[in-house]
Amino acid sequence: MARYTDSVCKLCRNEGTKLFLKGSRCYTTKCAIERRRYGPGQHGQARKKHSEYALQLREKQKVRRTYGLLEKQFSAYYKAASQQKKVPTGLKILQLCESRLDNLVHKSGMVPSRPQARQLIAHGHFTVDGTKVYTPSYHIKQGQVISVAEKSKSLVKALIEANPSPVAPNWMSIDLDNLKASIINAPSREDLDGTIKEALIVEYYSRR
Ligand code: SF4
Repeated sequence: MARYTDSVCKLCRNEGTKLFLKGSRCYTTKCAIERRRYGPGQHGQARKKHSEYALQLREKQKVRRTYGLLEKQFSAYYKAASQQKKVPTGLKILQLCESRLDNLVHKSGMVPSRPQARQLIAHGHFTVDGTKVYTPSYHIKQGQVISVAEKSKSLVKALIEANPSPVAPNWMSIDLDNLKASIINAPSREDLDGTIKEALIVEYYSRR
């Protein structure tokens, strides 16, 4: 499985915003963005003028990197979102990202970051409706129950105690005492990050 192996903080500095890829460290003054609010490398502090295309590209990269997706996966989400008519394409892309198992494990508060959730899922620490799922990109449907494998409960409880979750989403049902989580309904636009400009992502892929 291809994956990004360089410093994840560089990704945040490149996008000029926090992508929250390092768990509890992201909420402290040790966060690289708090200390150096400019891009990495020799030209990181140079003023940049962004073209329309560059703005679209950066927004797409920001969201793709937030969820830890490869370009192939993210463009597949755009394709799927643009082929349905029920939900605006931009919102559907975000809903597809949100319904991933790794995202939900993180948002439930059981694991402090998406990268860590991905790793634990791949090692068989989580189940969906009682069956172990090793695929972080697995899409959870309403009614399916995510829980922790029996042998992994003490590990996940220790993670919860060490990293209290900032905010639990209101579109999820979360029971941290019993280490269970599920989706109540797909998140509406108001439930999601208001700083994301999903229209730019749609424009980016539409022009290709
Ligand atoms: Fe990004 Fe977290 Fe690193 Fe801060 S600590 S730069 S939010 S990954």
